[in-house]
Amino acid sequence: MDDNRTLLGVEWPVAPNSSALDFAPSAQPVKLDSEPIIAVRDLLHRYQDRTALSGVSFEVRPAELFGLLGPNGSGKTTLFRILSTLMVPTSGSATIAGFDAIRQPAALRRHIGVVFQAQSVDLKLTAYENLWHQGHLYGLRGPDLKTRINEILTRVGLLDRSADRVEIFSGGMQRRIELAKGLLHHPEVLLLDEPTTGLDPGARRDLWQYLQILRDQERVSVIVTTHLMEEAERCDRLAILNEGTLVALGTPEALTREIGGDVILLEARDPQTLAERIRNKFHVDATVMENQVRLEIENGHRFVPDVVEAFPGEIQSLSVSKPTLEDVFIHRTGHRFWSEDAEPPPETGKKKNKKKLPH
Ligand code: ADP
Repeated sequence: MDDNRTLLGVEWPVAPNSSALDFAPSAQPVKLDSEPIIAVRDLLHRYQDRTALSGVSFEVRPAELFGLLGPNGSGKTTLFRILSTLMVPTSGSATIAGFDAIRQPAALRRHIGVVFQAQSVDLKLTAYENLWHQGHLYGLRGPDLKTRINEILTRVGLLDRSADRVEIFSGGMQRRIELAKGLLHHPEVLLLDEPTTGLDPGARRDLWQYLQILRDQERVSVIVTTHLMEEAERCDRLAILNEGTLVALGTPEALTREIGGDVILLEARDPQTLAERIRNKFHVDATVMENQVRLEIENGHRFVPDVVEAFPGEIQSLSVSKPTLEDVFIHRTGHRFWSEDAEPPPETGKKKNKKKLPH
C-alpha cells in the first residue's frame, strides 16, 4: 500500500457541478465552548398540506452526543434534511457553527459531515479508494489527503483493511467506512441518520462506542436520529419528537427522573372499570392504554399488594418497572412510542418484572 494512487489507476475527477468548493476544509477557528454549535429555532416545515415539523427549537453544545428520537413519521428525517442543507424549511431557522442553513448552506457544509441511511460507499472500491474519491470531492489532494485517509482509517480501526474491497466487509465495517467518509474533512459536527440500521447488536455497540470516542477525543458534536430507545439512552441529551412537535428535551436521566417512582401496568378483563375504581379508591392517576391500566406511582412495590387485595380476581397480571424513555414518551403524549400495529424491534423491548396472578 505504498502508493495508493496507483490502485486507482486514474485521478478521480471532481464531479460535474462540483461541490468541492462548498465542501473545502474550514479555515475558521473552532467556536467557543460556551456557544451552541447547533441552534434550531421555531423550525416549521410543511409538505403541501401535511405539517412535518411544527415549531421545533433546541440547541446542541460542542462535543455533545445529541439524539433525535421519535417514532416513524415524527419529523426526524425532515429535520435532518434541513440541518444538512438538503431542504429549506417553510419557516424558522437552523444554524450550525454560526452559519445559517438557509442563507449560508455552502459555508455551513464545510463544518458538517453527513452520513445518510442509504449506503454511499462503493463496494467495488477498496476502503482507501472510497476515501480517496471522497477526499477529492471535498477539495483535498495529494500527500495531505493520503495522510488524512490513513489517520481516519486508523481512527475507525480499519487501517489494516485499507487495500481490501469494501464488498468483503461486514455491515458494521461498511458503516465505519461511511463514518470515515463523513469525517474526512475534519467537520465539527457529524449528522447521522439512523446509522445502525441493519447492523447486528455487536456492530451497533461498536459504532456507539466509536461515537463516544469521537466526542471525547476529537470534540466532535454528533447529532443522531434514532427510533431505538436503547440508542437514545446512550446520548448526552435528547430531543423527542412526536408528530412534528418536540415533546421532551433533556438528558435521558433527567427525563426519566421527571416521572418519579415506578410504572405499574395491570391487565384486567375490564380495564376501563378497573382504572376508574383504582382512581376512586386510591386517588391516583390510572389511565387505560392498549387494554392495560397504567399508573405512575412512588414505591410501586408497596402499592402492588394493596391494589391486588382491593380488587380480588380482577387483575390478571401486573408489572412494575422503573420509568424508561418510552414511559417519558407516554407521559408526554398519552400514547405509546410504537403504535399497536408496528411492533418494536426485539431489542427495544425492556424486560419488565411481569407476574401472572393466580385466580
Ligand atoms: P421520520 O423521519 O420521523 O419518520 P419524516 O420527517 O420522514 O419522519 O416525516 C414526517 C411527516 O412528513 C410524515 O407525516 C411524512 O408522511 C411526511 N412526509 C415526509 N416526506 C414527505 C414528502 N416528501 N411529501 C409529503 N409528505 C412527507
